[in-house]
Amino acid sequence: MNILIKDIAAAVWKDGSCVVEKKTICIQGDMITGMDSIPEGFVPDKVIEGKDRLLIPGLVNSHTHAYMSVFRNLADDLSFDDWLFKSIMPIEDRLTGEDAYWGASLSILEMIRTGTTCFADMHMHINETTRAVEESGIRAVIARGLSGGSEDESGIRRLKEAIDEMENYRDCARISFMFGPHAPYSCAPEYLEQVIGKARENNVGIHIHLSESENEIHNMQRERGCTPIELMERIGLFDIPVLAAHCVQLTDSDMDILARRGVSVAINPKSNMKLGNGFARVPEMLERGINVCLGTDGAASNNALNLVGEMNAAALAYKGSTRNAQSVSAAQVFAAATRNGAKGLGLGSVTGTIEVGKKADLSILDLNNPQMRPKRNLISALSYSANGSEVDTVIINGRIIMENRELLTIDEEQVYYNIGKICDKLGITGGNENEQY
Ligand SMILES: [Zn+2]
Repeated sequence: MNILIKDIAAAVWKDGSCVVEKKTICIQGDMITGMDSIPEGFVPDKVIEGKDRLLIPGLVNSHTHAYMSVFRNLADDLSFDDWLFKSIMPIEDRLTGEDAYWGASLSILEMIRTGTTCFADMHMHINETTRAVEESGIRAVIARGLSGGSEDESGIRRLKEAIDEMENYRDCARISFMFGPHAPYSCAPEYLEQVIGKARENNVGIHIHLSESENEIHNMQRERGCTPIELMERIGLFDIPVLAAHCVQLTDSDMDILARRGVSVAINPKSNMKLGNGFARVPEMLERGINVCLGTDGAASNNALNLVGEMNAAALAYKGSTRNAQSVSAAQVFAAATRNGAKGLGLGSVTGTIEVGKKADLSILDLNNPQMRPKRNLISALSYSANGSEVDTVIINGRIIMENRELLTIDEEQVYYNIGKICDKLGITGGNENEQY
């Protein structure tokens, strides 16, 4: 389908900075083919009027666990260890693949509604999040969560499953893969070395949690006398492209390693604050030229997958933590949520900016909302004023997925019904039968 987006305020990159300019955008098939001029012979099948609207590159959520939305608001205000090991993991073990599919569908629904067109996911049920991605029309980089030791049968089985899943979805252009070793504390170094070997063999990157909590650092120092980043450097993790989630507890030397080795860092400010893990040293990471991306983490630890809300948190959190109102600007946050995210996911030439030759992954915001008036400094407005509800139209891979807030690929009612059913089955609140608020 050919789509013409007419006379719209668009967030584009110009001489290294992001500016908002009036543009007319032509989309042919899955691609942006015209921006300042209309390609010869272009006849639109559909025209989208740009008046009082803002066009942004589709947002890139660089770290989440989409299937976990079933656990939203279930285990709040707990310490990181109590949250993960005592509350989430025992119930998580009882989720079936079908449950994970509906959880992922709920997350995708929320992401599309708030302008996200691409996400990096770490999951536990092969083919299920991937199936939800394929059906919904969103773009994703999928990583099957891996954990275990080198001799451990389950670790080897999980690695094989990850490779099988890659094979199963080889033909879907919107889906790519990474390997997802969960973290240095849940994967033995020998197992990580195996994963690194397989990543190299299959030419994919690695998505991993690194240096998230203080306990993780203390345990690693006690057991191995180094930081998680130093251990990863030693075993060769950074020889391949790495998307490292969190990186909250970093030493100066850790940051130097990440910068030198070109590691992308997916920061998750809300999850880090909610679980009491603190504030990543984002201003210093940016100073060192580290590619900082923005993620929400899963709905059990945020508790939203709304990247506009996450931009707001990111634009405020590091000013507060450093007591410096000039640290981490709205423009830097916008870059983290778009261009940097795409780069971190290995999709820098595919998505993340509005450019001729890139895939048409675009979100349109309605500026006829009180929080968006006056129409001024709209990059700032995205971080400081918007809340995500302004997103009215979303295009992914050239296909309109949401139009005037109506979702065209997901049956919302069906998703809500099935989420309720899963809660009933698990015996947790939030179900269709036992309504407890
Ligand atoms: Zn995570």
